[in-house]
Amino acid sequence: MTTLTSPPATLTYNARARRYTPHPLYDNSEVFRMARRQLELVAEQTELDAGVLERLSLPKRAMVVSIPVRMDDGRTQAFMGYRVQHSLTSGPSKGGLRYHPAVDLGEVAALAMWMSWKCGLMNLPFGGGKGGVACDPASLSQGELERLTRRLTEELLPVIGPRMDVMAPDLGTDEQTMAWIMDTYSMKVGYACPEIVTGKPVEIGGCVGRKEATGRGVVYTIMEALKELGIEPTQATAVVQGFGNVGSVTCQQLAARGVRIIAIGDRYGAIINPKGIDIAALTQHVASGKLLRDFPGAQRLPSNDLLTTECTILVPAALERVITEENAGRLKCRILAEGANGPTTPEADVILAEKGIFVIPDILCNAGGVTVSYFEWVQDLQQFLWSEDQVNQKLAELIIGAYHRVRKLARERKISNRTAALTLGIQKIAREKARRGLFP
Ligand code: NAD
Repeated sequence: MTTLTSPPATLTYNARARRYTPHPLYDNSEVFRMARRQLELVAEQTELDAGVLERLSLPKRAMVVSIPVRMDDGRTQAFMGYRVQHSLTSGPSKGGLRYHPAVDLGEVAALAMWMSWKCGLMNLPFGGGKGGVACDPASLSQGELERLTRRLTEELLPVIGPRMDVMAPDLGTDEQTMAWIMDTYSMKVGYACPEIVTGKPVEIGGCVGRKEATGRGVVYTIMEALKELGIEPTQATAVVQGFGNVGSVTCQQLAARGVRIIAIGDRYGAIINPKGIDIAALTQHVASGKLLRDFPGAQRLPSNDLLTTECTILVPAALERVITEENAGRLKCRILAEGANGPTTPEADVILAEKGIFVIPDILCNAGGVTVSYFEWVQDLQQFLWSEDQVNQKLAELIIGAYHRVRKLARERKISNRTAALTLGIQKIAREKARRGLFP
């Protein structure tokens, strides 16, 4: 077990020269370099205290653990696990736990940074955190996943807690993962502690509507964008990459509003049906254990063609860095709604702006998840439960409010929606840091 803290300031953001020096721990990751580049772009355009920027340019704390797991065949296999807390200024750090083979420290650090900006934009009393384990969950049995998750929780005990760092599901993890973390943590402290994680099953303190919250939030922002652009939902088509938690709920919610979903892809392939895919039937098909690409109500589409399929609304809801300078010029959508975290590179952003594509940036578009996670945490701390109507109504109020704050700033300053969203998120944390001052 190793605890890594921020290195000396000279290695990081050079306030006077206003440029970053790469950091050996994080900067070998393309995703981290991308997150830092975004911060740099906002720093160039806003009046932020240079000392605060220096502090925001690296995570506050990172923990790297090796997780030994007894596999079903009797072998012992060690997996690498990471938890990064980017900021603890506004409250506990908050962010998902990801199981994916490509997970590394830099990626997790970038995702933690984005969580800080997201919580700032949404005015939630959290800093940004993220965790991950480098593993392929699809190749592990339920027993192996349970032992991995419980041992990870044990290893992270020194840095997690309801007032310190609260995890939630992300790519490759789900409600069951959160239930194992909650149980392991509760066994350690000696009482039931649901507020240690969000995105739990409702029976053990989860929040009604949390599972659907990210997809719902994506669709609330899309509906605002359609209104602004004068497009009727029933005249719109959508293409969605990813049919997991975020992608499937986004499809269901869009279909419920009359949007025609014409193409969907996941890690095993993609499908297309210009007349519209029957989302209820596809959901049933996938729930019965069959592959999306074998759905009889559509034709197969090469995965590489998915994102460049002509549509009104394109929703990447799987991995980061899928829209790059290589394919951005070929996108044929009117709205890009970023359900995934970090799907678009800064180089691609420039091309999208030239093409006039309306971008709903990730820290706004997918903020529904952390917003309802906040509702869940509050309910667990107060032991007072809300109804699903209350949850959905409050979610709509907060995310639509954030959408209009972003659009107002973007219009006033003639900046992109992404820069506006990042500016609002970063400025909120910067103000809090300035108020609290620098210890000692
Ligand atoms: P998930 O594991 O439930 O689903 C992921 C989906 O992506 C699956 O359908 C999978 O097949 C697909 N996928 C994986 N690799 C792919 C590839 N190479 N090409 C195409 N598709 C691929 O994960 P999720 O929770 O839906 O998260 C998806 C994205 O949304 C991630 O970027 C995550 O960080 C982000 N996000 C999730 C939440 C949440 O509440 N779950 C909140 C905010 C943001």
